[in-house]
Amino acid sequence: MITFAPGPSKVYDSLPIYLNDAYQEGILSANHRSSAFMKLYQETEQLMRTKLHMPDDYKLLFTSSATENWEIISQSIVERASFHIYSGSFGKKWFEFAKHILPASMGLKIEANQAIDVPSLQIGEEFDLIAITQNETSNASQVRSEVIEAIKEKFPEKMIAVDTTSSMAGIELDFSLADIWYASVQKCFGLPAGLGILILSPKAIEKSEKKGEKGRYNSLSFMLENANGYQTHYTPNVLGIYLLNRVLKDIPLIQEIDATLRSRMSLLENCIAQTKTLRMLVDNAETRSTTVMGIAGTEELITQVKKDAEKAGMQMGGGYGPLKPTSFRIANFPAITDDEFDTLLAFLKKY
Ligand SMILES: *Cc1c(COP(=O)(O)O)cnc(C)c1O
Repeated sequence: MITFAPGPSKVYDSLPIYLNDAYQEGILSANHRSSAFMKLYQETEQLMRTKLHMPDDYKLLFTSSATENWEIISQSIVERASFHIYSGSFGKKWFEFAKHILPASMGLKIEANQAIDVPSLQIGEEFDLIAITQNETSNASQVRSEVIEAIKEKFPEKMIAVDTTSSMAGIELDFSLADIWYASVQKCFGLPAGLGILILSPKAIEKSEKKGEKGRYNSLSFMLENANGYQTHYTPNVLGIYLLNRVLKDIPLIQEIDATLRSRMSLLENCIAQTKTLRMLVDNAETRSTTVMGIAGTEELITQVKKDAEKAGMQMGGGYGPLKPTSFRIANFPAITDDEFDTLLAFLKKY
């Protein structure tokens, strides 16, 4: 069975080798204050720079999930309130977590087909951080980097935090456009769940120092103090970090992965355009995600496609929330091979 679900998603085929090596190398029993662990952390951070082009002065931190990162940002970085621009369920959840910690936080809901209209965007002085869900996994939409750049230019004094949970390691990101980036490994990194990634610029670190929040198990001050010596604030998911290290070593440079995913995306778009009954969930090509593709149809048809797919050895990702009955999602993630993707296209062509 090949799964096209967008998270947890198909893991890299080399996973059994990595798992066995982790055991053989003894890293799983290594103390997280040991030089073996510190070396693993440092090397993984370096690989994020060489493979994903994370800037040299940005810091890589390990957390448990993207959800934890939502809390850390409001708790340890935002001073007064955050302003959330979102179109789907993940962006909305982030906004809700933020409001719980900082009630003055506000949200601007847009449609999946709607690009953020930066010239008309008004964000008051009371908001010191702008929260953007770059890739909205629930409705298969995305915010293009040109839009993030325009927001940064319009609001240079505000910090920008970007949720790239289902796009980091899939598309090329320009990290210089924002100060806070995060992801989880069960999406484009092609790994089992249980590890979150948080990337901070020097400005974001400075802002958290200014806020001075401390005392919680995941207070950023506590995390950074440990991370400076390539250690973690609690016994970490060493296996997850080891697997991340191995995946980063083995993948090509992000621009190559980006090109592969984009060409697969256009193959799928052409395939769907030629079907009689299916259409892309997001009509606007500008806001259509590269890594999570939504396909829509009537309720009967979607049920049938999912059933036929199972028989053909494939699992489609279900539609999310209100879109569940009338759509399904395809993860265009790098761990899915071109052959698997071709099998999917041949299957969808029939509808
Ligand atoms: C999956 C996902 C999350 C949540 O990730 P967890 O690792 O389960 O916390 C958050 N945001 C987006 C956009 C996602 O796709």
